[in-house]
Amino acid sequence: MAYQTTNPYTNEVVKTYENATPEYVEESLAKAQKLYKEWRNDPVATRVPVLHRLAQLFRDEADSLAKVLTTEMGKLFTEAQGEVELCAMIADYYADHAEEMLKPRAIETIAGEAQLENHPLGVLMAVEPWNFPYYQMMRIFAPNFAVGDPIVFKHAAITPGSALAFEDAVRRAGAPDGSLTNLFLSYDQVSQVVADKRVQGVALTGSERGGVAVAEVAGKYLKKNTMELGGVDAFIVAEDANMADVNAVAPRARLYNAGQVCTSSKRFIVTANHYDEFLESLKAAFGSVKLGDPMDPTTTLAPMNSKKAKEKLQAQVDEAIAGGATAYFVHDAVASDGQFFLPTILTDIDKDNPAYGKEMFGPVAQVYKVANDDEAVELANDADYGLGGIVFAGSAESGAALASRIETGMVFVNTFFSSLPELEFGGVKKSGFGRELGQTGISSFVNQELVVKREHPNDDETGGLILPHKF
Ligand code: NAP
Repeated sequence: MAYQTTNPYTNEVVKTYENATPEYVEESLAKAQKLYKEWRNDPVATRVPVLHRLAQLFRDEADSLAKVLTTEMGKLFTEAQGEVELCAMIADYYADHAEEMLKPRAIETIAGEAQLENHPLGVLMAVEPWNFPYYQMMRIFAPNFAVGDPIVFKHAAITPGSALAFEDAVRRAGAPDGSLTNLFLSYDQVSQVVADKRVQGVALTGSERGGVAVAEVAGKYLKKNTMELGGVDAFIVAEDANMADVNAVAPRARLYNAGQVCTSSKRFIVTANHYDEFLESLKAAFGSVKLGDPMDPTTTLAPMNSKKAKEKLQAQVDEAIAGGATAYFVHDAVASDGQFFLPTILTDIDKDNPAYGKEMFGPVAQVYKVANDDEAVELANDADYGLGGIVFAGSAESGAALASRIETGMVFVNTFFSSLPELEFGGVKKSGFGRELGQTGISSFVNQELVVKREHPNDDETGGLILPHKF
């Protein structure tokens, strides 16, 4: 059975689910298409109250919604509560701003009175990952619901309960039938849905592997798509960085969500003058985390999402060490059958090491020593990915100057990386293309329809340059 909830702390198989039947897939697409046709005639204002109700529902039921996440993919309950609140913020944000963001834009032109109107594009297919099961869904649902694009979605095989809880919340908030439909699909069925002529857009968040597979089908059938993929984000400690700030932020930048964040700081690039102090401090922080029951508020590091993920990460670490890396620190073992990965710090990773430039999706820090800020930027850019990044420097200004030299989608200077509704999210290179959230996020799947009007045809004063010749 592909879709299954297994608690990674207790290893209990909680529930298994059947794949969607072809009949259910067809019924879901037909319903979504019918809704799209209706929504084309309805202004944005008719939909946004649902988003406010959804935000309220997420807040009212925060604990029960958060518990689904913790049970299913193991994250700390406190972090799950934070994810639920962020979802509410995203829903409220688009409820408050979508109308303004989607209003027609007047264009000055000699052709007549022109405007660019934002219309829905059609049914969307979303493919989402397990690491933030609600937040990833809300990033795609809230803006596109406001636009008027119904969504069918495939969630990760290990988070079916979260998929159903999200779908149910949307229904209970009053969204019309067909607004958002969960489908437990096989990979082949995903391809079939992407190919379906009613589907006009595809949004995937996940790994490079998943992105390549789905983007290939989307390309074949000429479906507009956004790809939010992985990263090996750099955390640069510049020569004049304030080390008290660095040391306060660095451990969390790697260990939040048990290190399973696309924008986790996966490569700490530290200038030589700070290197020893940085390592000592990171080691002390990694050594002091408390691995345990993710429901317990005193636990600070949760298990990984699954046995499979833990084994994959262990294999990557073993390969790195076999390839010459040093395990500078490994946390003491814990007496638990949960899928815990012991926080690890790797140093001495040279360019030939299998770990160099590879995404390690868990609590493993790679630390690199560089001579100066220029070398730090060069190393940061020597990667196939470009998603996020953090820079610590002596001032916001000098940090921002370094940040602008990094080939990446998002950088935070002298602070934590954070995702908020108004901030565009996305990457470059193999981290994908397109942006979610913010103004760009709501513009991803709209038909920007140009309408030019006048009372009578204009005279061809340009000699047929831009207008058809007179006959
Ligand atoms: P993944 O294996 O690519 O899975 C993501 C989703 O894609 C899941 O629903 C998965 O289904 C589906 N999928 C994978 N291969 C597919 C295929 N060939 N056809 C159709 N669907 C397919 O990613 P993951 O390893 O679970 O998630 C972690 C990755 O996501 C990391 O690389 C992380 O950096 C990235 N991520 C990126 C962002 C961002 O915004 N840029 C945010 C979060 C995570 P199954 O579960 O059934 O395999």
